[in-house]
Amino acid sequence: MTAHVAEVSACSVGACSFNHDGCTAYAITVSGSPEHASCATFIDTSSLGGLPKVLAHVGACQRAECKFNDHLMCDAHDVKIGPGAEQADCLTYQPTAV
Ligand code: SF4
Repeated sequence: MTAHVAEVSACSVGACSFNHDGCTAYAITVSGSPEHASCATFIDTSSLGGLPKVLAHVGACQRAECKFNDHLMCDAHDVKIGPGAEQADCLTYQPTAV
């Protein structure tokens, strides 16, 4: 079980209300489906979200099949979020071979 909390080092999802030169949510949740990890914190509204500084981490990750996943936490050094199959995906996701 890891005590590490992965930093969100970059986010290129321009439409997200939390993105102000980086992710300003306190923490994000990564969800999605097998073979596809998406950011469940992504929201496109007219409201400005988040804190006045960039410090987001991965608070929880549901992609248990990712090689970085440890007890539904992310053990990668950091993650990058950006457009992929959907508008906001975890680009660091790496499914383990089955
Ligand atoms: S790298 Fe893997 S474990 Fe970490 S947030 Fe992305 S999908 Fe989850």
